[in-house]
Parts: sequence; C-alpha cells; structure tokens
Amino acid sequence: MPSPTPSIVIIGAGLSGLACARILTKAGVPFTIHEASDAVGGRVRSDRVDGFTLDRGFQVMLPSYPEARRVLDYDGLNLRPLYRGSDVHYKHQTHRFADPLHHPIDALKNINDNFIPWRDKWHSLLLLKEVTSTYGIERRIEEMETEDYLQDFGFSESMIDRFFRPFFGGVFLEKDLRTSARMFLFLYSMFLRSGAALPAHGMQAIPDQLAVALPPGSLHLNSPVAAVSAGEVVLSNGQVIQAKHIVIATSEEVAHRLLPDLGEKLVPGRSTTCMYFSTDQKLPKEAILHLDGDGRGPVNNACVISNASPHLASAGQHLISTSIIGAPSSNELEGVVREQMIDWFGPGAREWKHLRTYQIRNAQPESRQLKLGLKSLNNVLAPGLYRCGDYVEDVSINGALLSGRHAAEAVLASLA
Ligand SMILES: Cc1cc2nc3c(=O)[nH]c(=O)nc-3n(C[C@H](O)[C@H](O)[C@H](O)COP(=O)(O)OP(=O)(O)OC[C@H]3O[C@@H](n4cnc5c(N)ncnc54)[C@H](O)[C@@H]3O)c2cc1C
Repeated sequence: MPSPTPSIVIIGAGLSGLACARILTKAGVPFTIHEASDAVGGRVRSDRVDGFTLDRGFQVMLPSYPEARRVLDYDGLNLRPLYRGSDVHYKHQTHRFADPLHHPIDALKNINDNFIPWRDKWHSLLLLKEVTSTYGIERRIEEMETEDYLQDFGFSESMIDRFFRPFFGGVFLEKDLRTSARMFLFLYSMFLRSGAALPAHGMQAIPDQLAVALPPGSLHLNSPVAAVSAGEVVLSNGQVIQAKHIVIATSEEVAHRLLPDLGEKLVPGRSTTCMYFSTDQKLPKEAILHLDGDGRGPVNNACVISNASPHLASAGQHLISTSIIGAPSSNELEGVVREQMIDWFGPGAREWKHLRTYQIRNAQPESRQLKLGLKSLNNVLAPGLYRCGDYVEDVSINGALLSGRHAAEAVLASLA
C-alpha cells in the first residue's frame, strides 16, 4: 500500500539537496529528504578520529563563491584562511609563490628567485589583473582546455609544470589540465578575490549548518532510494512514496542509475586519495599549500591544516593532509608518501603517525568539467521530475549550492 506522504521528495542530502531544501523551507512548502548515508553532506563529510577531525578528502571553501555567500553564515562556520600562495617543492628545494597583493613582503623577498622566469612573473601579474578586474571573465572566453589557455596567455612550460599543473591539478583532480578554461578562470578569480579557507571544525560544518534549519521530521537518514518513476519513489526497504515532485539531488552516477533513460553519456568520474598524518614535532607555522613542482608524486599537494585551525588536531599535535590524484592501490603507498614528505618537511616525517587514508572514487564528475558551457544542464527532466547536483551546474561547492536553488525554484514555479 503506498503511504500518504508529502508531495515533494528530495533524494540526497549533499549540498545540492540541502540547498534545495533550504529554499523550500523558506517558502513554507513541506517536503521530505531521503538520504542513503548516516549523515548529511554527501561529498563534504568529516570524521572524528583519535581527537582529530579528518575531512573525507582535502577540500577547501572559497569564501568569495557567490552562492555560498548568499546561503552560508560564514561567522558561524568560523572560517580560517589559508596562506594566499604556495610552497613549491622542486629538486629538493622549496620556492615560495606569494600573492603580491596579500603578502607583498614575501613576494618581494622571492622576486629574484630564478625558479620562475621573469616572463612568467610578468604574465602572472597580467593574469591577476585580468581575472580580478573582469567580473565573470569565464563567460567571456571560448571553450578550451586550461593548458591551452595558459599557453596562449604566454606562460612557459616551466611555469605551467611547476605551479599551475600541481595547483590546479589538485583542484581539478587531473593534471593534464584538460578541464575547461572557463572553470579555471572562475575558480582562479575566486581564489584571488578572497583566498581559500577551512571551517574551524572541519568541512562537515558546512552541510551541518544547512541541516540545522530543516523542518523537524523532514530528514530521513539511512534511507536509500532504490527506484524512481513518475510520481513514485521506492525506498530500498520496499516502502513506496507517492510524490508529485521528485528532486534527484545525488551524484551524477547515482542519478544515471535511478534514471536509466536519462539519455546522457556517463563518463567515469575523477578520483583522489587523501592520507592523514599527525605529529608533535615542530613544523612550518603557515597554513600554506605545499605543491609537487617536480611532478613525480605520488603526493600532489599537502598542507599542515592544523596551522589553519588547531581545533582540527588533538592538543599539542599537528594534522597533515596529503593528497594524491587518482586512487592507486598499493601496500607501499604509505612508505612512498612518507619518503616524499621527508623530502618536503625533513627527516622527522619518518616518525609521523599515519592516521587514516581515504580513497575517494568519483570525487568529481568528469563530463561537466570538460565543457562548462554558458548554461547549466536542464534541471526539469519531466513534469514533476527535477535534478540538481554539481554535475548540473559546475563542479564545486558553489555549483552544488546553486543547482539546489535552481531546482527548488523550478519546483516552486511549477507549484505556482
Ligand atoms: C575529495 C574532494 C575534494 C573536493 N574539493 C573541493 C574544493 O576544494 N572546493 C570545492 O568547491 N569543491 C570541492 N569538491 C567538490 C564538492 O565537494 C562537490 O561538488 C559537492 O559537494 C557536490 O555536492 P552534491 O550535492 O552535488 O553531491 P553529493 O555531495 O554527492 O550529494 C549526493 C547525496 O546523495 C546521497 N545519495 C546517493 N545515492 C542515494 C540514494 N540512492 N538514495 C538517497 N540518497 C542518495 C549521497 O549519500 C549524498 O549525500 C571536492 C569533492 C571531493 C570529493
């Protein structure tokens, strides 16, 4: 017997589902959310392990994201900034790239470092000016790959290999820089406008903040949806829910599973591996991104994230996050990562305690990153059937939040 239930069902309580729910709540429209896992957040989750807060994969919040500014209470998140720049490790030496607008003294100190050719220093300033002075610059260029854009802009191979490839490789989770230059420009402008930050108590604070405002009884955790058809949602436990409006707020792969007739090609997503270590040794004091300028790996980027927020580590300890692009399966991985960290941070890294390793497959969808286009994907699939998620808008926290808003607006328009 189908149960009499609210007429709007949201499937998935990641950022997009929560953003959709937020708008419906504000409009006073009842709904339920069915989430497969044991908490909200989707790909933005954190775990408490031995007094440390470990995000499931290294990720950062860019406070200038326009939709995030609109939706989130930044004071409540207690955002802690990362250093605006990077330490690039190249041939056993460390080279500081400092944002000249925010760390002028560091930038001046390193101005004669020949690691970056003068021509690239000049082009970096030109790009900085272009990106920060043109709002929506990503919409003004043709679709092309990021690497082609950087070459056309005038950057040398050394600059691309030593800085852009590891920095944006870590953001895109691919080092060919085949991701759309529009995505590159959007994200670079966000980085340049207000840097990157971490909530003081971990990334999970973001979905948790959105979930606090959900109407009592609307959120159903551990409630996976098995099938969707016109006007009906079937839970894995067999329960059938009648729904006039169904919003699929899952990842791209799950949306394809629930909607086999979607008619869009599903490309395998991008993966990443994040290995956490702790130590009470003395480490550099800055919350700066360390980059693999050699391109040898396996670690592409690392950060002493407890320098951004001591709340992430237990008392007297540092928390170090190391990120690898892809999901290599090897028993030797920890040893190889440790060797690389000895090169970057000194012999003490031999004694660091390994806390946990996360392998995240399908961390980011591939297709939406290759071509960003100028419009989001269609979010109304059929009367009463909607979708949202990063793959519908753009692959970021901002894109997920924005797509949730668009889906809610489509539902409200249909109700009106
Ligand atoms: C390791 C990593 C690093 C990242 N780094 C950054 C970064 O630095 N900055 C940035 O802006 N973005 C970053 N991102 C991207 C960003 O996290 C995502 O774009 C965003 O969280 C996607 O949200 P979503 O709601 O679209 O999807 P999801 O988070 O995937 O949410 C989908 C939800 O649906 C649920 N679900 C799945 N199947 C079912 C089912 N059958 N029934 C019910 N529920 C179901 C899932 O459990 C999940 O909660 C990163 C992502 C990862 C994984």
